[in-house]
Amino acid sequence: MPIGEFDLIERYFSRGSDRRDVLLGVGDDAALLEVPPGRALVAAVDTLVEGRHFLPDAPPESIGHQVLAVNLSDLAAMGADPAWALLSLSLPESDETWLQSFAAGLYALAERHGVALVGGDTVRGPRVVTVTVLGHVEPALALRRDGARPGDVLFVSGWPGEAAAGLEALRRGVASGDADPLVRRYRYAEPRLALGRALRGLASAAMDVSDGLLGDLQKLCRASGAGARLDLERLPVSTQLSSRHSRADCERFALFGGDDYELLFTVPADRAAEIEAAAPSALPMHRIGVIEAGAGVRCERDGRLEDVPGGGYDHFA
Ligand code: ADP
Ligand code: MG
Repeated sequence: MPIGEFDLIERYFSRGSDRRDVLLGVGDDAALLEVPPGRALVAAVDTLVEGRHFLPDAPPESIGHQVLAVNLSDLAAMGADPAWALLSLSLPESDETWLQSFAAGLYALAERHGVALVGGDTVRGPRVVTVTVLGHVEPALALRRDGARPGDVLFVSGWPGEAAAGLEALRRGVASGDADPLVRRYRYAEPRLALGRALRGLASAAMDVSDGLLGDLQKLCRASGAGARLDLERLPVSTQLSSRHSRADCERFALFGGDDYELLFTVPADRAAEIEAAAPSALPMHRIGVIEAGAGVRCERDGRLEDVPGGGYDHFA
């Protein structure tokens, strides 16, 4: 017998948390949350649709991870401290095996970052999962997209392109699922929350890379009313990636692939040397260019202009 809506919520989505700022969580008409005085509430929401954002055979655990990770990544990109999450679930049936695995993925990530699930909604329909995250930050320290200025140094964290390579391996049927480290980078991206915190008061602008580095850099430039020079020869390529793909493919994955959830950020030139020490120790920081006056992104390789057509992903293009 499939379980009903209320049993489902109670069984899978009512784990308590030890956050003292949750005055009332799951179970009432709405949650009551206490925002620390002097801090701004930071809110983000993201939806994953089966067939579009995750493959129909994706492990439910990875969907639970991913739907929270993409949201936490947005908070990381704001330099915010995450606190609470709401979950809207649309499911074709109340399949307990699926629910158990999904909830395990979601709670594992939530608990690692001290995030409490405080409410949601559950309906029958096509498989669509939406998470809203709430957090807070001192307003003057929030990392925005619009603060980059000519001369600022452009950085990206980690190894952009790995997730897109993992997705492509899955699509082509050449990956061994979760055992493949590139697939894990795609399914279990780590939101860069510690880096976001470290960049408060240091980065002039920041955003998370979800739709490919080039398109996302164009967004940052537009928001800041500036241009950028991207040094293609400086794009970081992990040995994991280069051992399986040509340099050209690695660059294509980084520039046009999605799902990296690394941070793209700018730092005033006179403070760029502070980045290495400020960043979490296991996460490499890469200088990949510079902000310029003007508009748009100019790609160079070893000082020579290179024509790189295209931008990031657009659902309606
Ligand atoms: P209402 O009809 O008032 O919207 P619901 O019956 O939809 O209430 O939900 C009951 C309680 O369970 C609410 O506190 C709601 O936030 C919570 N809830 C519902 N679905 C979920 C879910 N998928 N995850 C977490 N909490 C949920
Ligand atoms: Mg409801």
